[in-house]
Amino acid sequence: MKEICEYQRCFGCGLCADICAFGAIEMRPDAEKGHLRPVIDSSVCSDCGRCQKLCPANREPVYHENIITYAAWRTNPNQQRGSSSGGVAAAFYETAIDLEMVVAGTQQNSRMTASMKVCDSLEEIKSFRGSKYVQADTRGVYRKLTEALKAGKKVLFIGTPCQCEAAGSAAGRMQDALLTVDLICHGVPSEHMLLDYIAWVGAVKGKKVDSLSFRSEWGVEMRMFSSGKKIWERRMHWDYFLHLFNYGYIVNEACFGCPYACQKRASDITIGDFWGIGKAVPFEDPKRKVSVIGVNTEKGKKFLSKCKTLTLVEREWSEAVEGNSQLRAPQEKAPDHDLFWNTYRQEGLDKALRATVYDKVSARYKKEYPMVFLKSKAKKLLGKS
Ligand SMILES: Cc1cc2nc3c(=O)[nH]c(=O)nc-3n(C[C@H](O)[C@H](O)[C@H](O)COP(=O)(O)OP(=O)(O)OC[C@H]3O[C@@H](n4cnc5c(N)ncnc54)[C@H](O)[C@@H]3O)c2cc1C
Repeated sequence: MKEICEYQRCFGCGLCADICAFGAIEMRPDAEKGHLRPVIDSSVCSDCGRCQKLCPANREPVYHENIITYAAWRTNPNQQRGSSSGGVAAAFYETAIDLEMVVAGTQQNSRMTASMKVCDSLEEIKSFRGSKYVQADTRGVYRKLTEALKAGKKVLFIGTPCQCEAAGSAAGRMQDALLTVDLICHGVPSEHMLLDYIAWVGAVKGKKVDSLSFRSEWGVEMRMFSSGKKIWERRMHWDYFLHLFNYGYIVNEACFGCPYACQKRASDITIGDFWGIGKAVPFEDPKRKVSVIGVNTEKGKKFLSKCKTLTLVEREWSEAVEGNSQLRAPQEKAPDHDLFWNTYRQEGLDKALRATVYDKVSARYKKEYPMVFLKSKAKKLLGKS
């Protein structure tokens, strides 16, 4: 076999590698942007076609209309700590474990990038909290979830929409026992790019970065640490990686044509940030991060009714769609996307940044940071934080 799906459409979900009975497929970083993609060992491939048949990129999604929408957050504020948004995913995992389900989620690995994992204990799900804005390594996940389903277990799978589709495909006729919760998704940068950026920041700061996080109490914010000390703290519009991620440079090629970035959904439940809530219809702000939950199927509705640790306020799906561009369309390529990549391939990340986004992001940081810094100092002096 030469190709599993059309190259530009490959989500890098990893299903093909996991389900190949002959072990003929391996996920490896591609030469273009470093995203994981299947590589077939033709000396082992039996040409059975199973990978092509199950690949989510080879079929049209089956969409559901929204049934009901909620604004949601953890009722107990302590339980929301460490979560990126309203803590809905964490609450779902806890409910699922209570119901003796097996769950799948994404944790930060020892390389500071992301790996997906299947587990069934409260201890293990702690590491799933927090968004990691990078393509997750899904090795072994679909195989394990199928094994759990075959053993008669129910499975909760939370991931990007394409990973959810892959999970559904792996489950096949056992889909009734699988609950898929997709994240509203802006696309995924590659592990390769993230590691390169970490090394770049390390070089700028003259320190070795040994941990990082993508979200803070403020919101989307890149923080890097060296031996426990914070050496980098840049909010969304001040960080070069987050800017590249947000504005159409570094996500997987397939993300630019994502068939799931629309208001109809293919999963049982959709979760994300409830951006723009209250703009048109008043909303009493709980002074916390607020998630959106879109319920897409009766199965999803039944599961949500069992989750008792969330505060739910009914809203309109159209409100979520209005505030979240990835519920309307995939993200668009930046006009200088190709300039970034051509420079990157020939001269590396530093030159690619300087040829494209560096001046813009730096100028914004220099302009906005001093005011934010002074405000937070003043708050501290007045004992308000
Ligand atoms: C790459 C990416 C892009 C996103 N883009 C948007 C967007 O455009 N709009 C929007 O509203 N929301 C987006 N989100 C979702 C948002 O950042 C939160 O993850 C979501 O609201 C859940 O928050 P929570 O507090 O309920 O979950 P938490 O309790 O913080 O749990 C985090 C959940 O995210 C999963 N997760 C973390 N990293 C990854 C990853 N790399 N791949 C797959 N799953 C992962 C975890 O397994 C867990 O289920 C994105 C998330 C990711 C990972």
